[in-house]
Amino acid sequence: VKGVEGARIGVLGLGRSGLIAARALRAGGAVPICWDDNPAAREKAESEGFETADLSRADTVGSLASLIVSPGIPHLYPTPNPVVALALQQGVPVDNDIGLFFRSLADVEWGDFDVEPKVIAVTGSNGKSTTSALIHHILEHVGRDSQLAGNIGRGVLDIDPPGDGGVVVLELSSYQTDLARALTPDVAVFTNLSPDHLDRHGGPGGYFAAKRRLFAEGGPDCAIVGVDEPQGQYLANQLSEGPADDRVIRISSGQKLGGPGWLVYARKGFLTEWRKGKQVASIDLRGVPGLPGAHNHQNACAAYAACRTLGLAPRVIEAAFHSFAGLPHRSQIVGEANGVRFVNDSKATNVDAAAKALSAFENIRWICGGLAKEGGLDDLLPAAEAHVRKAYVIGREAAGFAIDLRGIEAEVCTDMATAVARAMADAEEGDTVLLAPAAASFDQYDNFEQRGDDFTAQVTRLIGGGAG
Ligand code: ADP
Repeated sequence: VKGVEGARIGVLGLGRSGLIAARALRAGGAVPICWDDNPAAREKAESEGFETADLSRADTVGSLASLIVSPGIPHLYPTPNPVVALALQQGVPVDNDIGLFFRSLADVEWGDFDVEPKVIAVTGSNGKSTTSALIHHILEHVGRDSQLAGNIGRGVLDIDPPGDGGVVVLELSSYQTDLARALTPDVAVFTNLSPDHLDRHGGPGGYFAAKRRLFAEGGPDCAIVGVDEPQGQYLANQLSEGPADDRVIRISSGQKLGGPGWLVYARKGFLTEWRKGKQVASIDLRGVPGLPGAHNHQNACAAYAACRTLGLAPRVIEAAFHSFAGLPHRSQIVGEANGVRFVNDSKATNVDAAAKALSAFENIRWICGGLAKEGGLDDLLPAAEAHVRKAYVIGREAAGFAIDLRGIEAEVCTDMATAVARAMADAEEGDTVLLAPAAASFDQYDNFEQRGDDFTAQVTRLIGGGAG
C-alpha cells in the first residue's frame, strides 16, 4: 500500500482479509491499529506483532487517519456498526481493502514496464466467481500474466504486481463495492441482478446501488453489462452515449440483442458476438464440459467480452473454454453410478442461483433446504416444476421448506446423509441427483463449501467402488 507512511490506520475485523490488510499497511510504513470483537482473532494479530486497541472508544477512533473495515462486518444495515458510526461522526474516512488497492494503484510503479496492467473487476448477484475464474483461465491459457483476487483467489492486497501486459481479475461482492472509497477498474463486468443479501443493504435499491458503484463516473474504460434484468438494461443505458458506443458491451443469455452496439449473447447453446450490426464470431458452447447450462453460458459471454476488450481472438477464447474445469460447488459433477449423475451446486445459496442450476439438468432428484432467505421460494417453482422429479429437503426448518415447495413432491430428510441415501434409492437411470439448496448453510454447516463437501462425501461413500 502506497502513501500511508507513518499513518495510524484502524483495521476493524481480523479475519483473513483484515490480517492481509494489516500486513500490507505495515509493509507500506503505516501503523495499523487492529480490533476485532473476538479475543482469539485479536490474539492472532498480536502474535504477529500488531498493536490492538479498543476501537469502540471515541478517542481511539478519533486518532486514526482512516478506518479499514472487513467485508464480513455489516457497517450500515441492519444496524450501523458502532465503530464505523464513531469514525463517521468524527470525519475519519472509512474504507476497505479494495479502496486501498485502487488508491495505491494510482501511484504504483508496476516494475519497469511501459504497459500498465489492466484491472478487470466482476460484480453481480450470481456468476461472479465462475466469470472471474474463467477470465483468469483464458488469460493463463494464452500465456498472459494474470492474478485472481478479491472474493476468490488471493486477498487483493496480497497479490504480486503483474508484469508488462499483466491483468488483475478482481471478484467484488456488493459488500466490497459498497464501502470502497476508490473503484477504478479498467474493465468492469456486471453479470446479473437478483435479490440477495438485502438485509445488509437496506433493501433492493441499496443492493443495486452498491453494485453499480463500480460503474461510477471516472470508472471503467469499458463496461460489460448483463441486460437480462431491467436494472442491467438501465445501467447499460446510462453508461453509453448512444446505441453504437463501444465502451459498453451488452451481454445476454437467452435474448437476441439488436442494434449497432457491441453485443455478446448466447442462445440455444451458441455464443455470438456482434459489432456495428455485423456478426463477428460464433462459438458452440454445447460440448463445453466446464460450462453447463444457460447460466454458465451467460458467464461465458461475460468472460468472452472481457477478453475481447483485451484484444484476444475469438478462436483462442473458444479453445480456452474447453479446458476450463469449472469451480467446485458450482454445477460440479462429483460422481456417476448406474446412469445416475451426482452434481454438487452447494453454492446455489439463493433462489435465482438454484433456479438456474435446476434449469441446467433434467429428471432431477433435488436436495434442497437450509437457512431460507428473504423472499420465499416462489420464483424457483417454475424451474422446479419443469425439471424436478422429487425434492429431498434438508435443514433445521426442513418441514417448513417442504411446505413452501407447494406442488412438488417433497420428502423431509433433515440431514444430508439421509437425503443422499433417499435420493439414491429412488433414482433411476438418466436421473441427476442435484444439491442446489436455495438457502444458506449456516443452520447446519460453517459455510457452503462444508455443505458441498458433505454431499460429495456421502455420494462417494454410497457409490464407493461402483463409481464410473
Ligand atoms: P458468485 O460468485 O456470484 O456467487 P458463482 O460463480 O460462485 O457466483 O455461482 C454461484 C451460484 O450461482 C452457483 O450455484 C451457480 O449455479 C449459480 N450461477 C452461476 N452463474 C450464474 C449466472 N450467470 N446466473 C445465475 N446463476 C448463476
